[in-house]
Amino acid sequence: MMENKKIICWWSGGITSAVACKTALDLFKDKNDVRIVMIDTWNEDDDTYRFFADCEKWYGQEIEMITCIGKDYTSIQDVWLKHKSLNVATGAICSTKLKRRAREIFQEENEYDYQVFGFEFDKKECNRALGLYKNHPKAKGIYPLLMMAYDKDDCLKIIQDDGIEIPRMYRLGFRNNNCFKTGCVQGGIGYWQKMERDFPEKFEAMAEMEHKLTALRGEPVTMLKDQSNEAKKVVEETGVKWKQFIFLKKHPEYPELKCLKDMKPQEVKPLFECNGFCGTNDLNPRVETENEINFDTRDIDEKL
Ligand code: SF4
Repeated sequence: MMENKKIICWWSGGITSAVACKTALDLFKDKNDVRIVMIDTWNEDDDTYRFFADCEKWYGQEIEMITCIGKDYTSIQDVWLKHKSLNVATGAICSTKLKRRAREIFQEENEYDYQVFGFEFDKKECNRALGLYKNHPKAKGIYPLLMMAYDKDDCLKIIQDDGIEIPRMYRLGFRNNNCFKTGCVQGGIGYWQKMERDFPEKFEAMAEMEHKLTALRGEPVTMLKDQSNEAKKVVEETGVKWKQFIFLKKHPEYPELKCLKDMKPQEVKPLFECNGFCGTNDLNPRVETENEINFDTRDIDEKL
């Protein structure tokens, strides 16, 4: 039995992390110091803060909120514009600068023995836990959902059985609760097709952001890439990586590049939980969507 340990639980706004935090409190709160922390990007859906308040009541404990907004960056758009990038080889630049950085500062300023992550009972998430253990030994992860064999459906049921309304994004047909003010840069093709259908103003804003970043950078900046053999062949033949990129909306200066309208309709797939440990150094792709994302390997200034 664990006693007198300092445990940090990361609450992301998703249903799996919410149940992981509740399970950790049930298992460890009596004899340990358990803190629950949310990293706020200031880009969350408004309903996330309703869910936040409901979870505080459910837990009988406050959720601490930390953020990097107001320090090096004024907004998530400021991150993308300063780095002229959306996704890079090590993950999403916004996740690195707003989530990972906030977590690192918190970890430097606070002692902890363990950290709780909401990886669900699923083969990919087990591999993700193994990747975290091998690549981030200092994380000292605990995985209550793996311990209890809870998958996403179990988490949904636990939350609903306890009378809590799930976050709006799930009710709208998304499979996550990531950054809904703008939409998540790691959403994948089906996700952005749904955004275009159901939330055209958010879609337009992100399409415009891709074009703006492309102008600033002088070459295409996109969130998505074409995984077809035909697109891969063009990259092999020309040696130009961006020939595989997909814009949300056609870019007049790059007519040869596909846009979302050129892609077959796809379903919205689950996204990984953006918890400040983003990185492609996991052992396997974390979710199917990851193959559709343009993890840009060109040099950018990550030092900012
Ligand atoms: S949820 Fe998506 S948009 Fe938000 S910080 Fe993470 S990767 Fe970026």
